[in-house]
Amino acid sequence: MLDALKKAVCDANLELAASGVVIYTWGNVSGIDRDSGQMVIKPSGIPYQGMTPDDMVVVDVETGRRTEGKWKPSSDTPTHLALYRAFPEIGGITHTHSVHAVAFAQAGMDIPALGTTHADYFHGPVPCTRSLSREEVEGPYEENTGRVIIETVQARGQEVLAVPGVIVRNHGPFAWGCDAAESVYHAVVLETVAEMAWKTLWLNPESQLPDYILDRHYFRKHGANAYYGQK
Ligand SMILES: [Zn+2]
Repeated sequence: MLDALKKAVCDANLELAASGVVIYTWGNVSGIDRDSGQMVIKPSGIPYQGMTPDDMVVVDVETGRRTEGKWKPSSDTPTHLALYRAFPEIGGITHTHSVHAVAFAQAGMDIPALGTTHADYFHGPVPCTRSLSREEVEGPYEENTGRVIIETVQARGQEVLAVPGVIVRNHGPFAWGCDAAESVYHAVVLETVAEMAWKTLWLNPESQLPDYILDRHYFRKHGANAYYGQK
């Protein structure tokens, strides 16, 4: 069952490791099959090297129970499930502890949109969530991490795919996309724009991107009037 999705999610996890934004077993990628309501995710604590589609774990999105696979799913599974339940537009999710995005998360700052690289993928700042409360951390922590991401996306009032990622305060980024591969792409772009923003703010803390440049670049690639790339 779900052989194509298991392969896609395995490939996406290997792509994430190859991108250099994660080390050891940090980070995890999932993908969802909306028709069957099943999510495929990386197993917990298994090294990327030698990982195959058979190592992937299938979890029922409604019940949260494992339906296939020999390993335990990633410990962040409840966060992924919460996001898939809240946002039907999302087809894949990537979580990392990439250094520059984590730096913004630990500083409690949004990653500001300061240039066109950012604007090509994120129609505005990448939001930083609030800190989780003691009760939220001591309770169902991973599920509450999902809740705080959902709360942040909804509070900013933006379409979930227009800003395809959030940084969780004191923790790190969760990025998403229409499928697993696109979520990895967005996680790597998110890390890169975080590094660019950090260096920019170091050179000039007053740096800004005018809205009309943000809009022009975002809508060049997204929406009905997009014209970037090949037809
Ligand atoms: Zn984490």
